[in-house]
Amino acid sequence: MNMQVLDAPAAPPKVDPLDAFFDAMFRPMNAQGVYARTGAYESVVEALSALISSRREADTEVFRFPPVMSRAHLERHGYLKSFPNLLGCVSCLEGSEAEIRAAADLHAAGAEWTDELQTADLVLTPAACYPVYPIAAARGPVPAEGYRFDVACDCFRREPSPHLDRLQSFRMREYVCIGTPEQVSAFRERWIGRAAALADDLGLPYTIEQASDPFFGRVGQIMAFSQLEQSLKFELLIPLRGAAAGTACMSFNYHREHFGTTWDLRHADGEPAHTGCVAFGMDRLAVALFATHGGTIAEWPASVRDALRL
Ligand code: ATP
Ligand code: ZN
Ligand code: MG
Repeated sequence: MNMQVLDAPAAPPKVDPLDAFFDAMFRPMNAQGVYARTGAYESVVEALSALISSRREADTEVFRFPPVMSRAHLERHGYLKSFPNLLGCVSCLEGSEAEIRAAADLHAAGAEWTDELQTADLVLTPAACYPVYPIAAARGPVPAEGYRFDVACDCFRREPSPHLDRLQSFRMREYVCIGTPEQVSAFRERWIGRAAALADDLGLPYTIEQASDPFFGRVGQIMAFSQLEQSLKFELLIPLRGAAAGTACMSFNYHREHFGTTWDLRHADGEPAHTGCVAFGMDRLAVALFATHGGTIAEWPASVRDALRL
């Protein structure tokens, strides 16, 4: 008998509990963390956006940003020091018609057309609040009452993953405060309370914990330690895989005077403004709702559908 001796059967691939909801939420688009969104999923994201808008504080100015921003601005933000590994940069074929044609035709010839790409003056926006600081700075001294902004953006981070709660392209909504240290601290305290109430209304279990950003490299570890030491970041974590550590679905950030000095964003007395933001991971919150309440929205608890008007 001509039977091949097989190796011991491979261990079955580890199944992520979130995968059970893939079909309800997404369709593949040939890249990890980049998915087509179903109508049902999108109705949840829209409902979440409306709910978050309904909790907006008075005197908050609204901006919606495109998914790309100025590369020079991102460089000035210090992103290359903190998260160079996550950055996506726009590159294009530039030149005369003949040059562009020749470069593009390399593809049909089986050659590497991408070698001809030139780096553009744009990057993919990695966080929704970045574009707002230069806009505020251009207005001159920060008014005594400070600024509050409501911003949103499709964000990109180069962190491909098989897990549906870590996307490369995802929506971020933020409330941003620019003002004195007292104004920013009070803003963050208020929003930690409001965010907890929001999670309660959505029937989502959570913990709120101190956190640090995954700054790049060895110097990054020192930055993360100092961030923890100064309690600059908190996260609202929702357990999506049983008892395993929760997933950060919102974050509450105090940047101290970092953006104030970076953008020359100052009070009338010349002191750099302090800034802070509360970020809602819209896709993570939507995934959390499906993972917690099930793949069929009509079967979600009535209180949750009421809160979302779904
Ligand atoms: P994580 O530690 O999980 O990478 P983060 O600290 O990088 O999160 P922030 O920079 O605070 O996240 O971003 C604000 C919010 O955006 C997060 O709380 C999360 O809800 C969402 N978010 C961040 N990265 C992703 C991602 N790759 N996919 C989906 N949502 C994300
Ligand atoms: Zn922010
Ligand atoms: Mg991250």
